[in-house]
Amino acid sequence: MLRCSHALQVGLFAILILPGTGPGCVVALGQATPPAAPPGLIPPELPVTPGLKVFDASLIDTAVDPCENFYRFSCNGWFKRNPLPADQVAYGRFTELYELNRLHLKQILEEAATPAKGSAAASPRSANEQKIGDEYSSCMDTSTVNKLGLTPLQPELDRIAAMKTAADLPALLAHLQRIGVSAFFSMGSNQDYADSSSVITFYGSGGLGLPERDYYTRTDAKSVEQLQQYVTHVRAIFTLAGEPDAQAAKDAETVMAIETRLAKATLTITEQRDPQNLNHPTDVARFSKELTHFSLGDYVAAAHAPAGGKVNDMEPTFFAEFNALVGDTPIDAIKTYLRWHLLHAYAGTSLPESFDHETWNFYSHILNGAEKQQERWKRCTSRVDEELGEALGQVYVAKYFPPEEKQRTLEMTLAIEQTMDKDISALGWMSAETKVKAKEKLRAVMNKIGYPDKWRDYSRLNIVRGDSLGNEMRVHEFDFARDLAKIGKPVDKGEWQMTPPTVNAYYDPQMNNVNFPAGYLQPPFFSGKEDDAANYGDMGSTVGHELTHGFDDQGRQFDKDGNLKDWWSKTDESEFNERAECMVKQYDAIEAVPGVHLNGKLTLGENLADLGGLWLAWLAWLDKAGAAHVDMNAKAEGYTPDRRFWIAYAQQWCTQTRPEQLRSQAEGDPHAPDEYRTNTVLTDLPEFARSFNCKKSAAMVAEKPCRVW
Ligand SMILES: [Zn+2]
Repeated sequence: MLRCSHALQVGLFAILILPGTGPGCVVALGQATPPAAPPGLIPPELPVTPGLKVFDASLIDTAVDPCENFYRFSCNGWFKRNPLPADQVAYGRFTELYELNRLHLKQILEEAATPAKGSAAASPRSANEQKIGDEYSSCMDTSTVNKLGLTPLQPELDRIAAMKTAADLPALLAHLQRIGVSAFFSMGSNQDYADSSSVITFYGSGGLGLPERDYYTRTDAKSVEQLQQYVTHVRAIFTLAGEPDAQAAKDAETVMAIETRLAKATLTITEQRDPQNLNHPTDVARFSKELTHFSLGDYVAAAHAPAGGKVNDMEPTFFAEFNALVGDTPIDAIKTYLRWHLLHAYAGTSLPESFDHETWNFYSHILNGAEKQQERWKRCTSRVDEELGEALGQVYVAKYFPPEEKQRTLEMTLAIEQTMDKDISALGWMSAETKVKAKEKLRAVMNKIGYPDKWRDYSRLNIVRGDSLGNEMRVHEFDFARDLAKIGKPVDKGEWQMTPPTVNAYYDPQMNNVNFPAGYLQPPFFSGKEDDAANYGDMGSTVGHELTHGFDDQGRQFDKDGNLKDWWSKTDESEFNERAECMVKQYDAIEAVPGVHLNGKLTLGENLADLGGLWLAWLAWLDKAGAAHVDMNAKAEGYTPDRRFWIAYAQQWCTQTRPEQLRSQAEGDPHAPDEYRTNTVLTDLPEFARSFNCKKSAAMVAEKPCRVW
């Protein structure tokens, strides 16, 4: 998700929000982000934004009945104040904070990009400052990028052109993957599902230019139109690369045929949610015997991957089809396919603006509805964050993340973990023996807050000022090598999958840890200046959400040590599934855009986490408020503490979304759209209805509420 196309997308990280759709870094940059904030809003030295509040009474629309539409009641004021910016496909409170963080990062980068740092007496830049500063400056230097054109990519294009037979493919493909080209499949390191203490090689499906396989198989009118638009896009990129129009048109059809074949052999994203479907351990020798048309030996040698040992062939059906495809596809067609993926991988800030704009036009405008491309500085700032996140993040954290915030988050996390322990004890449907195991798993969860204890070492990465494409290539090679170097070594549990300034959070089932980056632990989600009711309703529900992921349909299949191992009794498992099925049906019934329903199975893990997380936050807050003798009838800004709790929960989800983006989300995002993350979740909680005195017949009260935890 947050990871770029070069990284193997095999981790089963359950993230709080999906930051963007579309493949690779290029497109992810264009998504989860807002307009230029009014200059007055950003006092450069202030660590906390004035004006952003966790509970904000001024956003409430009292003309809406909270029992009829709580989302509108809580957010209408925000909607009025925040029209959807032209360069955004969705704009919500997460983007509001993301944009603020991005301005802070821009300031750090602009400073680092100035080698002299003002006076001659100023100290020289540190090695990391040189890297982040020169990378930002190279990315911003459009005149050099435009002037160079395709020249920096020419050696790679030549390499593909020089391929003679399919026997050349393995070494060439390994090379292309090393420089960030996601052709055919993905390969990288991951913890063994069966033994989380061991890091092995994973081979996963891949090689598609569209966001996921169903884009190639859906037959409704809109999807068919999108497919045609994709072919037009591929053709446009080939034309920009200098092909005559007729050739470009023919080549685009070739790409489409190969990708469609790969797509049809790929599991659906719903099937990929079940780790059992992705666990096919074998070893290099056996795997290489199955790939009769593709020398795995040549491939691993060129990739500098281990020549032996255990591997996971995540999707055997996919690799069988890949093997057949290599065997029966003319070499020129394979070369065309590789050329497309090479151009596609670099068609962002490293190639001339014509490539960049065409890529934006298809992925952000056509697929997701953006009206305007984001300004260059925004995309370059996000690029440096993705490429050198722990060098940039180190400065960011020192400036904007006071140690007290870390402590406060930790206290809240511990309180909610205690609550979950009590909640497990109280569950009527779970047996005593499974409860013991569940509690063991809960106690083993590692809490990671803010930023890594040990920062990533970038000393082997060379960043050259003025060489945007070369830098991008070296970053990919650096990451690829770093990833493979983990194989056979002890697992580094301190590693982060998100950069410190990220506005998001995740649970990792194989590590059994929860991760809350510094960038997220600020208003409007968390504030030392506001009371527990607001903070527990908002950040508390997220802490609960991430913990619940350890026990959702996916996470519950891993034990306390992160091994894929069944620790549930058969009865408990069927009790769980019965309750989960209630939620599958509840979300399947929601029509998000005309003709497109939510996918109850795809969104199950997130929906379980939303409901379970909010319930845990509520219980933890009641305990804390009780111990502190909070007066439950005392109103602040017109609202009692319990109502403030629910409103703070809802206000984190205030989001404007374009219809195109809403459609993509309903089709492929494991998270339900924000309106349902608010309203549907709350209809399942009678405690909410009691707070607002909602009648049984009200829209915000489910006839048959679902409940697991
Ligand atoms: Zn989640």
